[in-house]
Amino acid sequence: MIPVTKPFLPSEKEFKVYVKSIWERQWLTNNGPLVNTLELKLKEYLGLDHMLYVSNGTMALQLAIKALNLTGEIITTPFSFVATTSTIVWQGCRPVFVDIDANTFNIDPTKIEAAITPNTSAILATHVYGNACDIDAIQQIADRHGLKVIYDAAHCFGTRYKNRSIFEYGDISTTSFHSTKLFHTIEGGAVFTRQPDLLKKMALMRNFGYSGVDEFAELGINAKNCEFHAAMGLCNLPHIDEILKKRKYLSTHYKLRLNRLDVQFQQLDNAEDYNYAYFPLLFKSEDLMKECKAKLELAQVYCRRYFYPSLSALPYVENVEMPVCDSIASRIMCLPMYHTLTLSDLDLICRLLLRIQNNESSEAVSKSFGALIADQIESEINIQTVKENGA
Ligand SMILES: *Cc1c(COP(=O)(O)O)cnc(C)c1O
Repeated sequence: MIPVTKPFLPSEKEFKVYVKSIWERQWLTNNGPLVNTLELKLKEYLGLDHMLYVSNGTMALQLAIKALNLTGEIITTPFSFVATTSTIVWQGCRPVFVDIDANTFNIDPTKIEAAITPNTSAILATHVYGNACDIDAIQQIADRHGLKVIYDAAHCFGTRYKNRSIFEYGDISTTSFHSTKLFHTIEGGAVFTRQPDLLKKMALMRNFGYSGVDEFAELGINAKNCEFHAAMGLCNLPHIDEILKKRKYLSTHYKLRLNRLDVQFQQLDNAEDYNYAYFPLLFKSEDLMKECKAKLELAQVYCRRYFYPSLSALPYVENVEMPVCDSIASRIMCLPMYHTLTLSDLDLICRLLLRIQNNESSEAVSKSFGALIADQIESEINIQTVKENGA
């Protein structure tokens, strides 16, 4: 069975060292030493002055919207994970969708201005699959109209933009450290800002608004994280360069092996600074995508429709047509991508996809599964001879 994703796991031994220290201190949560150490090490690794580790990526978005006092309408992308839209609605604002670019799958900046009204307070955009938005264009529009900018950078660990961590952009950037993400702390997330007042405000908000033992300076919520989650992050962080390198290696091989497949890959404007978090394939039609997905499942290869459906079709928003997004969301799926995915499994997936394209029946495809396994050793040898830049 080849799942679409698997969490990265450090050795149990590495984790147990931290668990033992937690038992010794008997300090489980509330701004403990492991949480503080993780924040320090993440800032060091990412080259950032400020970040706040929080309970998850959804709470990070809620804190961002709340800290900026956003009201009215927030311009956003219909092509993202549900939390990008649900947090806007949860905070009492109205999402106004702007269609996406057909090649990068990110919000199309040329369509943003037409959606701005006197009630618009911000732009909330997602760097889709870790691929940077057109940050300069979005910032120019925001400056021209006095709007705040939030980036949902949940997919972006390791992505850089103009020689800085992508988390440094926008008034606030948020990320997720959920288990399925490239860097994870089981559950977790973070908010990033370069504005000291916003940082201070979110630091208070994260912990009920406490500013002293019996003092409250802000309306707050419980958005803090705990020692066990921080311990997982501290175990995973030393492996992150190896994780990023493996992702790039796998992506390169997918591209190489699938160049004859009649699909579209995501356009990466800054491939050098990309983290290769996902491997999406955009098919010519929804039927073709569904057929490939179903036939791969017969061979126990599980892909995921991601993102689907378009967020402008959610039951609690005003449903609007987003022609580019609606079309892409219906035709896209992500291939398996995780640290322990082997080249032979990757090769198997690619061969199956090519055979499906060549119109072999599902029976033949599932039979070929057995034959392909026998081919694996040979292909592994072939792949070894493919020279890799930086992988
Ligand atoms: C994962 C994800 C989130 C939510 O993060 P959680 O940590 O699961 O709450 C938000 N936005 C995007 C784009 C995501 O992929």
